[in-house]
Amino acid sequence: MHHERPMHRRVRQAASTAVLIALTVVAAACTAAPATPSTTTVPSTGTAPVITTFTSSTTSAPAPALIAFAWQVADPQSDRLTCDIDVGADGTSELTVTDCQGSRSRNLTIGDTGAYAIRFTVSDGTESATSTVGLSVTAGTSETFDIVLRPQTTLSPEAQAAFDAAEARWEGIVTAGVPAVRATIGANGCGALNGAIDEVVDDLVIDISTTAIDGAGSVLARAGPCLVSTGDGLPRFGVMEFDLADLSNLISSGTLTAVITHEMGHLLGIGTRWTSAKPGVVLTGGGTGDPRYTGARAVAEWSALGGNGTIPVEATGGPGTADAHWRESTFGTELMTGFINGPVNPISRMTIASLADLGYQVDIARADAYSVPSGNLLRSLLAAPEVELRVDRLGPVGAA
Ligand SMILES: [Zn+2]
Repeated sequence: MHHERPMHRRVRQAASTAVLIALTVVAAACTAAPATPSTTTVPSTGTAPVITTFTSSTTSAPAPALIAFAWQVADPQSDRLTCDIDVGADGTSELTVTDCQGSRSRNLTIGDTGAYAIRFTVSDGTESATSTVGLSVTAGTSETFDIVLRPQTTLSPEAQAAFDAAEARWEGIVTAGVPAVRATIGANGCGALNGAIDEVVDDLVIDISTTAIDGAGSVLARAGPCLVSTGDGLPRFGVMEFDLADLSNLISSGTLTAVITHEMGHLLGIGTRWTSAKPGVVLTGGGTGDPRYTGARAVAEWSALGGNGTIPVEATGGPGTADAHWRESTFGTELMTGFINGPVNPISRMTIASLADLGYQVDIARADAYSVPSGNLLRSLLAAPEVELRVDRLGPVGAA
């Protein structure tokens, strides 16, 4: 039912991967007046679907804007419902979601500036209801996002290549620069190998090194954002220090690039800024057995993956793993779970959307193909060798 059209507004459609849910249709108990018993079944008529809520994740955002639209709808006859989102309220649906009953959400990227009416329509095939919200898309910066890697030790060609690949991956995902800020901290002031820094940083400087930490196994690396902006709460300077004793294993297992890409994700703020994100805290239940991620855009991708409600976050593995990753038992091979299962670790739309929740502008189309593993597949994944990404999570030490 979904479709992409050459749109005058360049509105990109969220991948519609709604899981078909078999509805159990329960016949409503007959409440006909007792004085006139009848066997005639009167077809249900004239009762439209009901929209309880329809909201957008923000009312104003710079272009290109990744916006989450959330709704709660129901049908009095429990008919199957189809939802459409029409950006601009011009009669052209930019997104169609079938079997959209209940509480769900989806993301749309709106590329052009303007004041939009966003019209939401829910239909049972015969009758429909609508709700409209306003959205202002303002001019965004044309500056690209630049990660600067500063090696603090001599890196092997394999390590250098893996760092470069990780940098290129995230620079393709984050589409706009963040404001330049002055960063100042002394050598090794981040709790690991870092050079002194006293300069205007634009956009993110990461000191990288390979060094002896604790021998093979156990701690793989020390990494984390060191200085975060007081303005937007996003990291401007960070450190990634890998244990030389573990490098050969990572290279031979084909996972070095994935591990470095994963750690760089933390330096962008994934899992490290969830409790202090400037647009709003996105972690609830931290320290409990059921931590959850609540940011609207990543939640919309979880909804598109067939999930309900907020996103399961890792509860096991101790400090540095718990509360800072997607839950391994739900998401399997996804890059930002706390365990690595092999060389293939896709970056999902959910992970990219989570960066937008933190305040970055992103290109969600850069995501890898990903679906939530089914129970059997997940069990076989978990039976495979799995390595916890044991990293001494650092900082942030200060503000820039
Ligand atoms: Zn991690």
